[in-house]
Amino acid sequence: MQYFNSNTVLYLNGDLVKASEAGTDLYSQSLHYGYAVFEGIRAYSTHNGVRVFKARSHFERLKRSCELVHIPFPWDINDLIRQTYKVLELNNLKDAYIRPLVYCGPNMSLSTPAEVNIMICAWEWEAYLGNKQLKVGISSYQRPNPKSMPMEAKVSAHYVNSILATTEAKSKGFDEAILLDMNNHIAEAPGANIFVEKNGKLYTPPAGHILPGITRATVIQLCRRLDIECIERVLTVEDLKNADSAFFCGTAVEIAGIKSVDETVFPLKWQDSIGATLQRTYKCLVLEKQNYEVII
Ligand code: PMP
Repeated sequence: MQYFNSNTVLYLNGDLVKASEAGTDLYSQSLHYGYAVFEGIRAYSTHNGVRVFKARSHFERLKRSCELVHIPFPWDINDLIRQTYKVLELNNLKDAYIRPLVYCGPNMSLSTPAEVNIMICAWEWEAYLGNKQLKVGISSYQRPNPKSMPMEAKVSAHYVNSILATTEAKSKGFDEAILLDMNNHIAEAPGANIFVEKNGKLYTPPAGHILPGITRATVIQLCRRLDIECIERVLTVEDLKNADSAFFCGTAVEIAGIKSVDETVFPLKWQDSIGATLQRTYKCLVLEKQNYEVII
């Protein structure tokens, strides 16, 4: 995967600079301790032009994540949104993945940073037209105890846990992992939230041990609009395996159907599930096609 070329421009601390000329400090606390905060945002080519989906929610979460781990956030969210659109425009990106990162300056001590930096880069992300259902496995890794780390913050260090779970899942022949929390309840995927369908209702794990995603909030909102009952409650592995259907949701995956968990295959055909309806509706929402469905 090539993230940039010699022409790519990114936003760094107030300036738009060439990605090939931008660098970081080898003594950065972020590099040594994973003490950084980031976001994952999507831009879509819509009939109203290029639109960054839920830009404000993402930058607000970036700020909140910084606050939760005591990294200063001296930036203006409106300005960051403007700079994001500039990055897209200067790189001629339409369907894109946007990665803001707040990282610390040189400091080898375990104290909060005196110097913070922000960068926003983006790369092309083709509209995903496939509709493959995923084979997932329950991970042997748990999500970290929320008393050890604020799990609702999108902190770089948390993603070692995600990398371990993903690597394990792939090595076992699964497409994706599902992590349990410290109480062995269903938590989330390494980079997405999970919803379960049973008897015409949706269930999703409550906030507490997960990153409560912006897509998850969008799905809950869509359920209200579509009159689908959606309940936030603790889910066991048994609840998941006895479900009619299930799906992941997140900025990158959007809404992705799950075919099976370990050896258990869900009985409901994906096209007949609530997830499939939400998948179409979500696509309409991000593409700002409010009044008709798109073929995915
Ligand atoms: N959980 C984790 C661990 C994630 O990394 C992500 C992706 N940011 C999500 C859930 C989904 O969050 P969002 O919908 O805000 O992308």
